[in-house]
Amino acid sequence: MRVYYDRDADINLIKAKNVAVIGYGSQGHAHALNMRDSGVKNIAIGLREGSGSAAKAEGEGLQVMTPGDAAAWADFIMLVTPDEGQGALYRDHLHGNMKQGATLAFAHGLNIHFNLIEPRSDLDVIMVAPKGPGHTVRAEYQRGAGVPCLLAIAQDATGGAHELGLSYACAIGGGRAGVIETTFREECEADLFGEQVVLCGGLTSLIKAGYETLIEAGYAPEMAYFECVHEVKLIVDLIYEGGIANMRYSISNTAEYGDYTRGPRVITDETRAEMKRILDDIQSGRFARDWMLENEVGQTSFKATRRREADHGIEDVGARLRGMMPWIAETRMVDKSKN
Ligand code: NDP
Ligand code: MG
Repeated sequence: MRVYYDRDADINLIKAKNVAVIGYGSQGHAHALNMRDSGVKNIAIGLREGSGSAAKAEGEGLQVMTPGDAAAWADFIMLVTPDEGQGALYRDHLHGNMKQGATLAFAHGLNIHFNLIEPRSDLDVIMVAPKGPGHTVRAEYQRGAGVPCLLAIAQDATGGAHELGLSYACAIGGGRAGVIETTFREECEADLFGEQVVLCGGLTSLIKAGYETLIEAGYAPEMAYFECVHEVKLIVDLIYEGGIANMRYSISNTAEYGDYTRGPRVITDETRAEMKRILDDIQSGRFARDWMLENEVGQTSFKATRRREADHGIEDVGARLRGMMPWIAETRMVDKSKN
């Protein structure tokens, strides 16, 4: 598999374009600010009338337009609004306004792979998907590093889609860490699987189950928090730095023995079988269908679950304990007033 770096890309290609970033949320702010700091001059942020994000973008000196005006102005559009609203946004504001031969870019393949958007045939349709949360994409760039990116081409009407996509990926910092070429299908399915089974769904369920087991057995919430939440980062940092073996080098032999003998009792054959079923839901389109239907009814169960989860005791004890560790806030990546 070919991995591209800054030296393989021509950053001037994207610098020569009018680039619109539609949405100024987790990904949007990171793409726009990284690009600006890479020397891209003609950037506009596309936001709806009355958007709460407009002041944040303008606070960084970025020009804000409506999505329709941004579409008419831009040669290259990165669509980084929530996936569930992209179909309507494309239909109502982009389809009729985008320039002939312009580029429509995504940071995730869901809408194209599952045919929720059927783009005009004269457009280049690409994906530049950073493999990390938006706030990390920004923080890594600012410290001179980068988050790896995936590049995929769904439509190459102009013949220049690959080179321009690579140029964009480098402008947002991806070329420092590596840009891998893939397909919309591979990115979309693997990304959904990763976030559901390991990164988000798997990890939070593991953390909560461990925490609740200790609480139910009568251990103090503070103990349970440090053991099952706080230390996750410390362990993951060691894995990130040098792999699982590097982490096992640092932990005690006792911890390592427990890891080998007890870990597989947590992730059992039954868990693996469930992972396969989750993957099948993704591949068959069942997950995408369920999520879109949830949106048809105004995200009722999604919002109720978000509210209930935020009320979990683990959040209260966590907020209290983190308050005693001011260095965590000093280097925080999420500042809701700015990003
Ligand atoms: P966010 O939820 O952070 O996006 C919110 C932004 O979109 C806000 O600026 C919001 O403005 C704007 N927005 C919402 N609806 C509309 C609309 N109808 N018209 C115009 N602007 C709108 O999105 P993410 O950054 O999380 O995700 C964006 C894309 O990136 C998705 O495709 C996602 O899959 C992908 N991705 C996300 C990652 C992440 O780290 N979050 C990681 C990799 C890929 P307002 O203030 O008006 O609400
Ligand atoms: Mg993801």
